[in-house]
Amino acid sequence: MEHFDIVVIGAGVVGCAVARELSRYKAKIAVVEKEQDVACGNSSRNTGMLHAGFTYKPGTLKAQCAVEGNKEFDQVARELDVPFKRTGKLVVGFDSRDMENILKFKEIGRVNGVENIQMLDRDQLRAMAPEAGGEFAMYVPSSGILDPMQYTIALAENACANGVRFFLGERVTDIRREEGEWKVCTQSGQISARWVVNCAGMHASWISSLLGYPDYPVKGFKGEYFVLDKKAGKHMSIPIYPAPDERGGFATHATPTVDGNILVGPDSYLTEGREDYKNTKDHMDGLIRDGQKMFKEMRREYFIRNFAGIRWKRYNPQTGEILDFMLEADPDKPGTVNLVGVESPGITCALPLARRAVGKILEQEALEPNPDFSPYRKGIRKFSEMSLEEQEEAIRENPDYGEVICRCETVTRAEILKAIHNPLGVHTVTGIKNRTRATMGRCQGGYCEAKITHLIEEELGIPETQVRYSKKNSYMFTGKVRDMA
Ligand SMILES: Cc1cc2nc3c(=O)[nH]c(=O)nc-3n(C[C@H](O)[C@H](O)[C@H](O)COP(=O)(O)OP(=O)(O)OC[C@H]3O[C@@H](n4cnc5c(N)ncnc54)[C@H](O)[C@@H]3O)c2cc1C
Repeated sequence: MEHFDIVVIGAGVVGCAVARELSRYKAKIAVVEKEQDVACGNSSRNTGMLHAGFTYKPGTLKAQCAVEGNKEFDQVARELDVPFKRTGKLVVGFDSRDMENILKFKEIGRVNGVENIQMLDRDQLRAMAPEAGGEFAMYVPSSGILDPMQYTIALAENACANGVRFFLGERVTDIRREEGEWKVCTQSGQISARWVVNCAGMHASWISSLLGYPDYPVKGFKGEYFVLDKKAGKHMSIPIYPAPDERGGFATHATPTVDGNILVGPDSYLTEGREDYKNTKDHMDGLIRDGQKMFKEMRREYFIRNFAGIRWKRYNPQTGEILDFMLEADPDKPGTVNLVGVESPGITCALPLARRAVGKILEQEALEPNPDFSPYRKGIRKFSEMSLEEQEEAIRENPDYGEVICRCETVTRAEILKAIHNPLGVHTVTGIKNRTRATMGRCQGGYCEAKITHLIEEELGIPETQVRYSKKNSYMFTGKVRDMA
């Protein structure tokens, strides 16, 4: 049984941020994740908005970490070489109730330290975003957009380069306290550790109970999305949100992505299924109706894909009140850091929360700084974003840049090979997709998915019948349709 100083459970954005922040110290660290890659839970099922922090109750972890995470993100994006645009955000209103709610949250934003929020009248709104619905708006310049998959991957790769070991495809099945340390059991073995950090997202309450904390009640608020083609993206420059309700919740919004698509959604309704990510007709119809109120140019011909995510919120069963993120490290439960209910804005908050989680360990145990720690990580350079001269130069240096594998997104063989040889050892089609954007265009992989499967087979020596799309049992090919002989 291998021994570690610290084991992090879950490789979503929170677990990967914790791993990255822990790698600043001299310690033997592992991350254990049940899926085949990082960012397979809700960290890849969200809007990718860097929230400003104006809807969260002052003084809460949500408010503190959102504002802190927002302010530092230009530097974080540079360190990790991830795409990020500080677009600002419009919160549009139609009537006096919307105005009342917007002004309420404008004031909360001021108290939380969100800077330069401004009100726009109809003409100013039209001048800034002719595509937006609404009669007036609140403009929040500090909001931004990022790619949550690339961000999570970057945190993980940076942690990995700084010495953290990733155990992917290993579901934690039990945790036991034996002889003064933790035994973390997975479906294929055991590892032991002095510390366990619970970042298990949708299953965090269960892990919490294994560590001796309560099995905190959580409610799943599911949200469905449409992804719109880049043709629609040309008509949109800034995220457009409706006025929040009294509690700060947003109905369906429209948000450009860093790559030029648009996300319409999420809506919000209760679900009990921990991983109930199916899309449903009723909700798709609702998204079309409500999405058009935000983004006037929305048309059916732009739809290329759907997805869904679930915000697991902690709540008080007596009052129904939604509660703050839970972050605790009770010295009476030695060697534990517990994170539960990290719902939205968990992407924005990931690094500030991670620093606080590491701080909890440092309060109980001195860790020496890692003298070799580097905060920098380099992403895969996109051929589609190079100038013509740069493309010619790239092809001269490496002819694999001259072969386009994904036509819709112009992703070359050179980029796919870099993704296949990623530092985490991921070898699924979705893993390649999230690292390069191959399969994310109009045809959604119809042309390139089989080519990517063959490249994985060739480069890694995995038989094509063993290559997975994403999940453990999502085989790309299970046999021949007809015998070519
Ligand atoms: C619809 C929606 C929209 C959102 N929009 C935004 C936004 O715009 N901006 C923003 O800041 N935030 C947003 N969020 C919130 C954000 O996505 C989450 O807060 C964040 O992704 C949570 O990260 P996590 O690492 O805690 O969870 P996850 O990403 O779900 O990761 C948990 C990981 O733990 C693993 N795991 C669970 N159980 C086990 C086990 N037994 N063994 C091993 N591994 C296990 C899972 O497989 C998973 O990979 C949104 C969320 C949703 C659902």
